[in-house]
Amino acid sequence: EAAADLMRGLHAPVTKIKGVGEKNAATLEKLGIHTINDLLYFLPRAYDDYTKLSYISRLQPNMLATVIGTVRHTTIRASANGRRDFYMEIDDTTARLGIMCFGQHFLIRQIKEGQHLVVRGLTTFFSGRIQMSNPDMHVVDPDDLKTPGILPVYPLTEGLGMKQMRALMRKIVSYWAENIPDYIPESTLERVDLADLGWALEQAHFPAGEDHLMHARRRLVFDELLIMQLTIMANRRAWQSIPAHEITVEDDALQAFIDAAFPFPLTGAQRRAIDDLRADLAQPIPMNRLLQGDVGSGKTAVAATALALAVMAGKQGAIMAPTGILAEQHFRGIGATLAKMPSELTNGKTPVVALLTGSMNSAEREAVYAGLESGAIDVVIGTHALIQSGVTFNDLAVAVIDEQHRFGVEQRGALRSKGTNPHLLVMTATPIPRTLALTLYADLDQSVIDEMPPGRLPVKTRVIEPNERHRIYEHIVEPELERGHQVFIVYPLVEASEHIEAEAAIENFDRLQRVFSHHQVGLLHGRMRPAEKDAVMAAFRDHEFDVLVTTSVAEVGVDIPNATVIIIENATRFGLAQLHQFRGRVGRSGLQAYCFLVCDSPVEDARKRLRALEMTNDGFQLAQIDWQLRGAGDLIGTRQSGQSSALDEQMQPELVELAQREARTLYEIDPDLTQSEHELLGVRIRSLQDARSDVS
Ligand code: ADP
Ligand code: MG
Repeated sequence: EAAADLMRGLHAPVTKIKGVGEKNAATLEKLGIHTINDLLYFLPRAYDDYTKLSYISRLQPNMLATVIGTVRHTTIRASANGRRDFYMEIDDTTARLGIMCFGQHFLIRQIKEGQHLVVRGLTTFFSGRIQMSNPDMHVVDPDDLKTPGILPVYPLTEGLGMKQMRALMRKIVSYWAENIPDYIPESTLERVDLADLGWALEQAHFPAGEDHLMHARRRLVFDELLIMQLTIMANRRAWQSIPAHEITVEDDALQAFIDAAFPFPLTGAQRRAIDDLRADLAQPIPMNRLLQGDVGSGKTAVAATALALAVMAGKQGAIMAPTGILAEQHFRGIGATLAKMPSELTNGKTPVVALLTGSMNSAEREAVYAGLESGAIDVVIGTHALIQSGVTFNDLAVAVIDEQHRFGVEQRGALRSKGTNPHLLVMTATPIPRTLALTLYADLDQSVIDEMPPGRLPVKTRVIEPNERHRIYEHIVEPELERGHQVFIVYPLVEASEHIEAEAAIENFDRLQRVFSHHQVGLLHGRMRPAEKDAVMAAFRDHEFDVLVTTSVAEVGVDIPNATVIIIENATRFGLAQLHQFRGRVGRSGLQAYCFLVCDSPVEDARKRLRALEMTNDGFQLAQIDWQLRGAGDLIGTRQSGQSSALDEQMQPELVELAQREARTLYEIDPDLTQSEHELLGVRIRSLQDARSDVS
């Protein structure tokens, strides 16, 4: 009990810490830190490693180096523009190093000749000598030439300096490292070789060495994964306890629909996905299935079949897409598919399909609301507009979410709550390796479409240098445009604001209009209003222009079969899986398509990584490579949404599997975590959940 109390104490506000008042609390708040727990798990984004010392005589230009030496010579130098710079030399007996501190003349009063300094910074080459400019410096005790070790680097905010943050962390970390109860059950700790929690927290902040840090993070990631998985499994059990409609359809009826509805034979993978969901619908337990399939693999046909099954059972279906234009595309496509449904399957009635988007006027919207409530509408296809409060269904039995990674968990829940526990199918084109998917989507059953419709030509992909652009424009883009095909040119920037991203596209838009002066060039960027974006995409789809210059906003599933070229700028800043998504904009028909990745980095590894896209068109394989190279952050989308965790890169396959196994074992033995050995873990999970719902 004492341990449980202590653990609940972790969720006390930071003001409970001695020396942290309202003012500091407000500053910490800006970093998303509300409680002691938040602070303890606010991990460094990097470390300054002062442990690896270099001899001055061995320094090369352009290296990040740490040296320790005696100050020999300090002086002020006036620069041409009137700025006063501090200059000194330090001596480590192998050589002297010049150190320039631009604009920091006040250092002359603080740094004295004969003092010992640890200096860390980037070396430069200046008038024939190696020097450092504006390095980090620490005075050290001459009798004890110890470096400060490995120091954490935290994200900061106005009013909170690095020194202050380190001191605060030092204080709370050293207290909790001693006192935090380890909530992972003994039996688990025995099975998996993991560090102690208190030790892990301490080492994650103030590592004694690189291997210590690695072990510490491994432990913290394991905890995160285990807790995530247990939480999801518990949620799944909760909603599965409410019964769902059983929808059974005879083999003949299903086949009659498929034969009538699709102008092509289904691929084996589509067929398997349909069999999976049909078996789910026949159960009194609500379906919760994830359909993964690469762009262009034909997920829409599977979704249409799910909706058709609802209609055949005399109930309603709904599909929600992330943008208006996608909803319209589905309205046309799925609408046409359902219209072909043989009338004997629906007692002679033609299914009524409606569209619901935010850009409709209120009279149109009211008409759809009325039809959904009365049951006159069988299937509705729409955007977020579907989960607004005005929408009530008569009998929603099957709900589909397209491009599910664009929606949050709450929106999934909101759509589900529109029916009495409807069957849910969520679809994604973001390939996630199976192991990872099993953790992230532990509440979902999975179907994978791992086979493309026949007749597709793989997109020809090439990594190019910036100076090859014009050759590509001339030899590939122009001829394709002459053939009446269309072209995407993407200017994505990572970690820049939408604002900067938009600027890059706007700037290049002007240039590209001149380059392709015989063709129509359009522009799409994130600062446009949703309706404007939709209008631009619709115009491009209708071939009102030939070249679309765009930021990353055009990422999702709009079908423009006539587009045959995509050029992606700044390609090295992206994960392979995401580049593969971009590439999926083209190659959606029988036409040969091309993808050019402009490699803007001189680093050979970056180019090598991109080459994986030249070698394969398999999204799953690319996701797997990404996972190994860059960790899971890209794949699970935390990096894009800005809540990137320092731990992402540690989510390696082997650790994910380990956490999965332990979560399953625990869940099997004690799903409510009430046995004494598991109690603390239960407390931990519940208090994390409470904390989360307090904030949101
Ligand atoms: P996505 O999985 O990206 O949503 P779509 O469902 O939009 O893919 O399908 C992409 C294209 O492939 C569409 O034009 C669709 O008509 C076509 N298609 C789907 N299934 C098949 C199939 N079995 N045979 C031939 N073409 C197909
Ligand atoms: Mg799609």
